[in-house]
Amino acid sequence: MNYLNEIFAKEEFHKLGFGKYFCDSVFVQYYSPDKGWHNGNISNKRHLSVDLASQVLHSGSDIFEGLKAFHNPNGGFNFFRIKDNLNRFNLSAERMGMPKIDVTTHKLIIEKLVNKEASYIPNKIGCSMYIRPVMFGSEPTLQVRASREFIHFVLLSPVGPYFGNELNCISIYVEQENIRAAHGGTGNVKTTANYAQSIQTSEKVFKLGFDQVLWLDAIHKKYIEELSGMNIMFLYKDKTLRTPSLSGTILPGITRDTIITLSKSLGYNVIEDQLDINQILHDINSNKIIEAFAVGTGAVVAPIGKLLYKENEYIINNQKVGENAQLIFNQLINLQHGIVEEDNGWLTNIK
Ligand SMILES: *Cc1c(COP(=O)(O)O)cnc(C)c1O
Repeated sequence: MNYLNEIFAKEEFHKLGFGKYFCDSVFVQYYSPDKGWHNGNISNKRHLSVDLASQVLHSGSDIFEGLKAFHNPNGGFNFFRIKDNLNRFNLSAERMGMPKIDVTTHKLIIEKLVNKEASYIPNKIGCSMYIRPVMFGSEPTLQVRASREFIHFVLLSPVGPYFGNELNCISIYVEQENIRAAHGGTGNVKTTANYAQSIQTSEKVFKLGFDQVLWLDAIHKKYIEELSGMNIMFLYKDKTLRTPSLSGTILPGITRDTIITLSKSLGYNVIEDQLDINQILHDINSNKIIEAFAVGTGAVVAPIGKLLYKENEYIINNQKVGENAQLIFNQLINLQHGIVEEDNGWLTNIK
């Protein structure tokens, strides 16, 4: 915590990065079939001892969420779309054969925890407290079936602006061999299994000098899905924003949904559809696509400057941050901090 205190004392929030530092306070509770959720407690014990026979280590039952709390202009803070995150947590739980958590209780737990560590919400636009709820199977068993015991915890991590003080373009490698998710799989829920199987490909791509993997559909290896932890959008010259539809194999991102609503209100025409990689690359080369961006809670909006597909590079907007990405980013950040009004009920103000 010392380094964190130093960053906050000097207000050098760019040094926070993303998901590198954690608050001492955590919430932990336990589940058993007879007691349900019990022994819920906020403590400063981030180190937990678990049985090596725990189900998560053998069958992988593990789900998570990622949401943020932001300073607001009234000197308090607010959560952005917290209920949507917590509802999605339950959808993930259901798909993974895990128990649900009452959304209202879960929300109160998070409010209490963040309130306790409120001095570690960086007081700067674009910075926030990242909140990571997790649930995993903790019953000691090697049997491949639902765990009967679970641990649910909430971890807090103060985060800086993803890219430092300005947006930066990222480069994308379009993966040809491996896939992320198939129909009927778990691509549309937030389970660590989706990340685990993406890592080998990500490492390959990092070594080649790219920032992110773009996954194609499992069957045709032709339709655009998403990045490993972010959804993707393409902006056409005529102000049409195209993004892959929620086909069941991609994560229904809350940032994706927010940007769809926000862009419509800004006069963009939004189309959710099946996007053929060949058509998209053709539209990049013929300058019909003028910008592209990756979107998610962590980075918010990450402009894409370059794609590599079958050894050919495709450059977007001269690898410069586009004015539309910047506009959508700014509007979204202002919304999240409660600087501009919104009437979608997305903000939960605390204090
Ligand atoms: C979390 C996540 C996203 C982004 O979702 P948000 O709700 O916008 O944060 C996109 N894709 C995957 C695979 C994810 O895990």
